[in-house]
Amino acid sequence: MRVTFPHMGFMHIPIKSLLEGLHREVVVPPPITQHTLALGIKYAPESACLPLKIGLGNYIEALEAGADTILMAGGWGPCRFGLYAQVQRDILQELGYDFQMVILEAPDSKISQLFDQLKRLGEKVSFFEAVQAIRFAWYKTAAIEKAEERYLFTLPRTIDKDRAEQLWDQVLLGIDQAKSRKAVDEILNQALQAWDGLPLHHEPVLRIGLVGEVYTVLEPFSNQNIARNLGRLNAEVSNSIQLTEWLNDNLFKGHLIKSRTPHINNCARPYLPCSVGGHGRETVGTTVNFAHQGYDGVVQVGPLTCMPEIVAQTILIRVAKEEQIPCMTLYFDEHSGNAGIQTRLEAFTDMLRRRKALQTENSDFQQGGTCSAVLSRG
Ligand code: SF4
Repeated sequence: MRVTFPHMGFMHIPIKSLLEGLHREVVVPPPITQHTLALGIKYAPESACLPLKIGLGNYIEALEAGADTILMAGGWGPCRFGLYAQVQRDILQELGYDFQMVILEAPDSKISQLFDQLKRLGEKVSFFEAVQAIRFAWYKTAAIEKAEERYLFTLPRTIDKDRAEQLWDQVLLGIDQAKSRKAVDEILNQALQAWDGLPLHHEPVLRIGLVGEVYTVLEPFSNQNIARNLGRLNAEVSNSIQLTEWLNDNLFKGHLIKSRTPHINNCARPYLPCSVGGHGRETVGTTVNFAHQGYDGVVQVGPLTCMPEIVAQTILIRVAKEEQIPCMTLYFDEHSGNAGIQTRLEAFTDMLRRRKALQTENSDFQQGGTCSAVLSRG
């Protein structure tokens, strides 16, 4: 059995670690490129959402590289995600590929159901070995998220942005190759120290929350590397979705870490009291949460035609007004051009800077600043 799976951000690192811990041979799909997308576009229905097309391209490239088993998460609810695996399997079979598809479903009640699914996926694996494999994969995920947080903090503040990005790429590579917790810790600590040592500028830095559909938030190829582009515009990006949280909530039923979902649902309740599928409710809730935390703005991202995000977008108009937080929505499909996205990000951050400067002047004025002091700064 040579197992593959779709890319989603850095998810291939812990999944590879997990499968190797289950004694499986792993074929990680090549990094997503325009060729991957072209394969997906060629064989997927035109109206399918972008993640389905990119995932299909991943599978074709991995099957061509020798994979014979595809691992995919299942799902349910009012959007199309629950059908992804079946649609992709039918397309690949019609193309003549010989493979089996294993769909990991979230357990109905007991977490042991998920462990059983994973154990069955393994090759002569004891329950203890399955647990060890899950724990090490989880450890790697948590370490990468810690590194990502520091990277996203440092990138907008340093003058050496190339080096900050280079360190992030090195962390991903290093943790991917690490075979022990000690090795993971060493790579992480070295990177944290290196980021801390980068020279800083003294320009104001914006804080922007990134909300929206999970794949588009987590996969840089699908969002045109939005966090990196905003970082280069001196804006710190906070992802509303972390991979550990998503896995904890969707596959592990909240058993691994304390879930933020009840809090986010509470934030959403005055605007959207029920689930609309996908991450629609979370998009509204996390936007409100970012507003409460004093963020300068929110960018909502999603694939074009994503129903839950379209519902959330209509509600964000009211959220922006009542919670006093500027929101911008960007949809992505195969026709999205980098120059167009970059122009919109620049316009949005310019607007946020002017708004922030005005707010600072007003508060200076209210706290006793003189008119002339305010005017001289304007
Ligand atoms: S959440 Fe959006 S992108 Fe994901 S399957 Fe549903 S409609 Fe498609």
